[in-house]
Amino acid sequence: MREPVLHSTVSTPDEDRALRPQHVRDMVGQLDVCARLAIAVDSARKRGDTLGHILFDGPPGLGKTTFATCIPRDLGVACQIASGAVLQAPKDLLPYLTNAEKDSVLFIDEIHRLPKGVEEFLYPAMEDFRVDILLGEGVNARTINMQLRPFTLIGATTRAGLLSAPLRDRFHMREHLDFYTVAELTEIVVRNARKLQVEVAADAAGEIATRSRGTPRLANNRLRWVRDYVTSKADGRVTLGLTHAALDMQGIDSMGLDGQDRKYMETIVRIFHGGPVGVEAVAHTMNLAVDTLVDEVEPYLLRQGLVIRTPRGRKVTAAGYTHLGVTPHEPPDPQRPLFS
Ligand code: ADP
Repeated sequence: MREPVLHSTVSTPDEDRALRPQHVRDMVGQLDVCARLAIAVDSARKRGDTLGHILFDGPPGLGKTTFATCIPRDLGVACQIASGAVLQAPKDLLPYLTNAEKDSVLFIDEIHRLPKGVEEFLYPAMEDFRVDILLGEGVNARTINMQLRPFTLIGATTRAGLLSAPLRDRFHMREHLDFYTVAELTEIVVRNARKLQVEVAADAAGEIATRSRGTPRLANNRLRWVRDYVTSKADGRVTLGLTHAALDMQGIDSMGLDGQDRKYMETIVRIFHGGPVGVEAVAHTMNLAVDTLVDEVEPYLLRQGLVIRTPRGRKVTAAGYTHLGVTPHEPPDPQRPLFS
């Protein structure tokens, strides 16, 4: 029997930092994206020039922030981090722009949340490294131009569709991050198990990867939970059987869907007869924000073909019904609980 080790189920910031790749070459998967970034970074270094602005888009947890923080490290330049959610006026953005050192990176997460006025303030900063500041009001108002040091803007968004065309077009590179394969997630689990110093059987690593919804962040969360489970219930070694038990206990099914994913599909099936139904109606029924459904829940279900989008709304597919174990259009069974 090993010495019992105390772990918190909630990851510590240190642990998160330890699992996050530090350089683009350490990233698993997204090979095309990595190859293009390596060329752009190499070229900027060789030319001694500023790297062009880059936009990353894709569902949460696929590596947008990780890429954005690896790039300045690879370039050997400073990085400032801001979020579109808090940059609500040009005055909020101005300090970041004036502080930016030559060739440094400014990373703006959730860039689709920038209000129009801040977006417009950003255009000349991105294009000509200058900002136009309005001083005074009314007839006394005048604009002064302020020159900035050349910098690289890296934007990340879960909703590229919400960005205005002028902002999108000012990025020199646009990279879309897609869900990871099971093989890629298995590699991430194996590497991170080593970093967390936990022994994981090969088949157990594959199972954690299979049940991670194609998302590295979830693979890390599932790995940490299984680690906690085996530490508490067994001798700290992760076997396939213990992995099944741990993930079942969290309500994560064989495809990696969690209770919220299934509740979303069951709401469409049982309340809206399989759809088509507008996402707003589903969100209201589930008492969830529309953004949560659109950003976090739907992308993987759409990708797996369990749900489709039609002009009239969302519909659960035959594969979705099969996964839920429900026959299409069966009359509601009053004995069956609405949500399992
Ligand atoms: P996003 O910004 O897209 O929401 P993050 O960059 O924060 O996602 O990624 C979440 C976590 O997933 C990171 O902390 C990192 O540990 C892991 N991760 C993401 N992409 C990769 C990758 N390509 N290889 C290894 N780990 C990754």
